[in-house]
Amino acid sequence: MRDLVQYSIEGLGDIYRAREATVREVVQAYLDSIEAREPRIKAFLQVLAEDALAKASELDVKGHDGRPLFGVPVAIKDNLCTRGISTTCASKILEGYRPPYDATVVERLRSAGAVIIGKTNLDEFAMGSSCENSAFQITHNPWNEAYAPGGSSGGSAAAVAADMALASLGSDTGGSIRQPASLCGVVGLKGTYGRVSRYGLVAFASSLDQIGPFARDVRDCALVMEAIAGHDERDATTIPTPAPDLHGKLERGFEGMRVAVSADLEKWEMDPSVREIAARTVDDLAGDSVPVDRVTLPGMETSIATYYILANAEASSNLARYDGVRYGLRSNSDSLLEMYERTRGEGFGDEVKRRILLGTYVLSSGYYDAYYAKAQQVKALICAQFEELFRKCDLILLPTSPTPAFRLGERLEDPIAMYLSDIFTTPANIAGLPAISIPAELSPEGLPIGMQLIAGWGEEAKLMRGAFGLERMYRFREQHVLGPKAGRERHGGR
Ligand code: GLN
Repeated sequence: MRDLVQYSIEGLGDIYRAREATVREVVQAYLDSIEAREPRIKAFLQVLAEDALAKASELDVKGHDGRPLFGVPVAIKDNLCTRGISTTCASKILEGYRPPYDATVVERLRSAGAVIIGKTNLDEFAMGSSCENSAFQITHNPWNEAYAPGGSSGGSAAAVAADMALASLGSDTGGSIRQPASLCGVVGLKGTYGRVSRYGLVAFASSLDQIGPFARDVRDCALVMEAIAGHDERDATTIPTPAPDLHGKLERGFEGMRVAVSADLEKWEMDPSVREIAARTVDDLAGDSVPVDRVTLPGMETSIATYYILANAEASSNLARYDGVRYGLRSNSDSLLEMYERTRGEGFGDEVKRRILLGTYVLSSGYYDAYYAKAQQVKALICAQFEELFRKCDLILLPTSPTPAFRLGERLEDPIAMYLSDIFTTPANIAGLPAISIPAELSPEGLPIGMQLIAGWGEEAKLMRGAFGLERMYRFREQHVLGPKAGRERHGGR
């Protein structure tokens, strides 16, 4: 039998049904993988070995009951509430906090049969692009440990890339699922704003935040998304429809769809290897008779500035609740005011403080109109431009990140350089559009490069079909992870 950690979600279902492996054996195989790789990768803030094994035994007693994620080991970003299990957001200010409830997505994963194997590392409160802003540890890129896994959901991306979980959840406010997916060579999906309930996600910027899955391939990603998506009474911003079918029509790929690409991609600074794979993808699509239009992509000039005003403004307000009274850390002092100040001074890291200051500034009287109100206007413009564009095309294709993974430490001293790397991901957040990163190629240094697709509002089914089309074209896993033989075997019979 093949290595148990190599099975896809449907593949696992098949071997469970055929009684070729128990859930306990599979969970144990993932725990072994964690034992082997985690000491160097440090993707997890907490491994829930005992809980996961106990859950596995429970599932084994009943046997496969047809649930879509039966016996699938998943990892959860540590800004998602897990009942009775510490949830830190990688911040000292939440150290020791145990939520009294599960986030909706956690509840839905559990009821789909998934086994939660651990909580993963992130940039503190999901603010960052490298996982280096965690108060507890730095996560390393499984492809080369001297490099960052990306962020903020770097732990979730690295866990899947290093076979320490079959799938995982992250959150994406300005790119935090897609960028680490790209840097770690896995698939990462952010749905339409409102597609997935944010109940139980610790809020960063509520008008932008969305939860979504990481997986090794598009089909697994679709299956996890189907399990977590859909209306939730506890999040009034959720779209009032059930989760769409995403995995059923994947094979159709780009059939009948038009793709838009940037007419002036050369204008933007990026690594030559990223530029090359973007150009090659366009040629290959055209070669496959997919109609490709060169257009001006909305938000390329304005999205970073807009994003860092809106996100920080909302963060400054959302993070006001950490006052030492209600959650986690409390610093000692004789006066109440000083207790607030000390708790926040000691509990938050530098990047979080920077964002709170910037956010408070753009909301302050006298500056509100110049920054926050202006950013809202630009947001409306970007949304209108996307709407116009999606009247003429079905998908937009562009790189996920302007560079492959960068070295740990390299961008730490330069927040602006770190922020600028969000250029290709932030437009989809601002417009609330679904977007996905698919691993495409390796750079000459052997680091993964992902390409991104964006679809119109509510069009996740089209997005996933296009993603499947790209996956079939790139054959990334077959070439770079499993080897050509294993690749054919894995996909055989599908
Ligand atoms: N890198 C972006 C930031 O630092 C995005 C973070 C995110 O999506 N959570 O804000």
